[in-house]
Amino acid sequence: MNKKTLRDVKLGNNKVVMRVDFNVPIDDGKIMDDTRIQAALPTIRHILDAGSSLVLMSHLGRPTGTGYQKEFSLAPVGAYLTDHCGLNVTMASDCIGDDVAALAAALKPGAVLLLENTRFHTEEVGKVDVSKLSDADAAAAKADMKKRQNRMAQQLAALGDIYVNDAFGAAHRAHASTAVITSYTSTAVAGFLMEKELQYLGAAVENPERPVLAIVGGAKISGKLELLLNLIDKVDAIIIGGGMSYTFKKALGEKIGTSICEDDLIPTALKTLESAKNKGRKILLPVDNVLADRFDADANTQIASGDFPDGWEGVDIGPKSITLFCAEVARAKTIIWNGPMGCFEMAPFAAGTNAICRAVADSGAVSIIGGGDSVSAVRKCGLYDKMSHVSTGGGASLEFLEGKALPGVEALDDANES
Ligand code: AMP
Repeated sequence: MNKKTLRDVKLGNNKVVMRVDFNVPIDDGKIMDDTRIQAALPTIRHILDAGSSLVLMSHLGRPTGTGYQKEFSLAPVGAYLTDHCGLNVTMASDCIGDDVAALAAALKPGAVLLLENTRFHTEEVGKVDVSKLSDADAAAAKADMKKRQNRMAQQLAALGDIYVNDAFGAAHRAHASTAVITSYTSTAVAGFLMEKELQYLGAAVENPERPVLAIVGGAKISGKLELLLNLIDKVDAIIIGGGMSYTFKKALGEKIGTSICEDDLIPTALKTLESAKNKGRKILLPVDNVLADRFDADANTQIASGDFPDGWEGVDIGPKSITLFCAEVARAKTIIWNGPMGCFEMAPFAAGTNAICRAVADSGAVSIIGGGDSVSAVRKCGLYDKMSHVSTGGGASLEFLEGKALPGVEALDDANES
């Protein structure tokens, strides 16, 4: 990794400002999944054990950016950190302003200040709606927002003397608290979670144990096209399952009934297959599927190879595909998985995803689960702990595996900086 991490910083009586990803599901004030909170704890404890105090900041959901909104408040996370993690946490009523600055200044070593949702301010994201403005007014509005975003970042930075970014899940965003802030800090380093995410994902694409297998699924090709194209250059084989496989199937001249399909991407699907062939990469598509007569868990089903009958849609991979895919999984030494094999949320259509999950867990390969729906599939199977690395960032891991630079990482101090 070419960026500085917390290991490069000598901590003492410091005040650390840390961006975390506490964007967790909350229902009626109750944290429904604490994975992201637990994942940040090693970094948090390291900083506090070293005698520093800590200012934590995060976004939660997508508030309007016009101030406090109770349903997007991080207060339940503050209570969780106090009640379940044994931390001494003060909850701030905002993330910037004089009151927040005073609370941060008063922090004692070992104490934590959790700032309120950074997205209560539009400046965090820094976007302006210029759709109804003239070109000149749009340029002025953007410049004004940039200025305000810089001011917010500067205020956040001033709350401490060291900046740590452990929010891998937000690293693909160039926001005030994730990237702009580093212009106003003398020290900006990655936390342990960020480091671990980058190490696993980086090794999988840059220096993997071969053969490398990518398993790509999910609803649509459109969201995963860049991923597919980038992975073709890096991996030895790709399994394509889920809803996106039907566009490939149609592109190959087969009938797909009423299955989900992106007709406009048929030429791209063909080009992708061609490119994989030219590069000597193996692409495995389903050889049979579970079909349903409607998109419902109680639908009538049948297994089909080849053409699908009219009025039926593919909802999962079939038994022959499971055998074929699992054999490929067993051969792999490194596996990158992003996207389910079918509509796994409905139990009758989860067999394919579950079987792949079990095969990956049993494979002994380095297994990297790329966030989002694959993570909930792995969790549903009870095999979360059997994976080498389950990413906490769906969008960020996708962009990383697409070969894109992550602004939140780029903005950190370079490893060779003195
Ligand atoms: P994505 O967000 O692109 O990874 O897509 C995940 C979603 O794709 C999950 O909610 C799945 O239920 C859905 N999905 C997977 N296979 C199919 C399919 N054959 N038809 C419709 N949706 C699917």
